[in-house]
Amino acid sequence: MHDKKRMFGTNGVRGVVGDMITPTLVLKIGAALGSMRKGTIAVGRDTRTSGEALVHALKAGLLMTGCDVVDMGILPTPALQYIIKIDDRFAGGAMITASHNPPEYNGVKVIEADGTEMADDEIIKLENRFFADEFDAVAWDSVGREAAAPERIEEYIQAIVRHFPAGIGNGMTVVVDPGSGPAALTTPLILERMGCRVHTINARIDGTFPGRMPEPTPEGLQPLSEMVIATGAAFGVAHDGDADRAVFVDNRGRYIEENYEFGLIEDYVCRRNPGGLIVTPVATSRLIQDIADKHGCTIDYTPVGSIYVARRMIDLISQGETVSFGGEGNGGLIYSDHQFCRDGGMTAAMMVAVLADQGEKDLAVLIDDLPVYHLIKEKYPAPDPAVLVRTVEEAFGGEIVEKIDGIKIIRADAWALVRASGTEPMVRIMIESRDPGIADALYQEIVQVIGPG
Ligand code: MG
Repeated sequence: MHDKKRMFGTNGVRGVVGDMITPTLVLKIGAALGSMRKGTIAVGRDTRTSGEALVHALKAGLLMTGCDVVDMGILPTPALQYIIKIDDRFAGGAMITASHNPPEYNGVKVIEADGTEMADDEIIKLENRFFADEFDAVAWDSVGREAAAPERIEEYIQAIVRHFPAGIGNGMTVVVDPGSGPAALTTPLILERMGCRVHTINARIDGTFPGRMPEPTPEGLQPLSEMVIATGAAFGVAHDGDADRAVFVDNRGRYIEENYEFGLIEDYVCRRNPGGLIVTPVATSRLIQDIADKHGCTIDYTPVGSIYVARRMIDLISQGETVSFGGEGNGGLIYSDHQFCRDGGMTAAMMVAVLADQGEKDLAVLIDDLPVYHLIKEKYPAPDPAVLVRTVEEAFGGEIVEKIDGIKIIRADAWALVRASGTEPMVRIMIESRDPGIADALYQEIVQVIGPG
């Protein structure tokens, strides 16, 4: 028995199809999941070309262990999570997706009956079954049955639309770039039903991703920016390959760095729920802290990974705390009154509410009103990353440090985070300050301690 994850990363299993990711591997994941969560399992997939083959393998594994399967077809990951959450019939779920990775990738995300991603301790049990070929295959008369329910995506769309006052987007023009992914089936409809006039780009489902790669980048979103300007839209929104994240361009066509998106929506949420807790990983910008302070909200920091944010939100609420909001500085935001996972469709809808609330101020003005932070992000090769993190800890131990994930050095005018990569022999270094000179000086201090990379 192993007590560490061997195959799953922070967001499921991912790899290149035909290399790491094969139907055999996915079938075994299905069989392991079916052995652990007896009952009805909901499955879905993003738009990748390998998705159909892999979802059949997944279903075969589940059915042979006696689970019934309901196939939701192509849909965003948060849509599948929402459907599982609201329907007590489901014992769990699995999504065939590689999120933001290039087209040749695919993978599996495993979902619990409450709609959250499976936590590490249960993933380890699943992996142990996988590697030991320990599956509860059933006899011929107990094999599961399959049903299809692609129409249930509508329940997700309605849940988001219902979250806001009717017609909140009236008179607002927006542009949606689903990047040929499953949000093509949801976000344009959500925004339209909120009253917006919606234009789309890359809105035809296509696993070859002809318009842009599944990771939304400033370069990839150039056509979106141009369309926002051409149509006089209030904003443009784009999703990653499974639409749990949303990123924006403002009305001047400028890409909004995701920490600012977080800050803007946080400001909106905190104004309505002052004094609550905001949960985010230690790597998020201090901007999030500034905005929390403004509303008397408190930040609760977690290790890097959306699953840790979601779990922490659930734990705090179960302890009687008020948790207003959570998320990561990459456009993955979690709304505690909706569901405990990142939700790109909800984030797109939230931006409509933010702007409707501001009246006169347009998105570019709102962004320019936020304090500017400078971020240095470096990867630093290290044969033994843990040793390097300890070296930094010893050198900076006299200062205020946080050891939630790696080592975070906290100063009045800057912070630095040094953490071991989970997947490669390297450490990741992040430094942030309002003053680029101060950020660079702190980076040099750290390099002095760890030696040249
Ligand atoms: Mg994603």
